[in-house]
Amino acid sequence: MPTYDFECKNCGHRFSLFTTVSGRLRAVCPTCQSGNLQQLFTGISFVKGSGGEGGSQAASGGCSRGSCSGCPGC
Ligand SMILES: [Zn+2]
Repeated sequence: MPTYDFECKNCGHRFSLFTTVSGRLRAVCPTCQSGNLQQLFTGISFVKGSGGEGGSQAASGGCSRGSCSGCPGC
């Protein structure tokens, strides 16, 4: 599981979450419990075209099908 860095737009708190792709969509600020988070990419090293293109495609841009079972946004 990768670590995601977030900045809370509500209180400005920055924190990291060690979570799944679906888990980060439900992430909340540990300080104020706000879900209004900006994801930061400072702590993540993206390697483009590193194998799992098929598996990470839906995760990167969100789900557009509207009927998947694992996406809270659907
Ligand atoms: Zn906050």
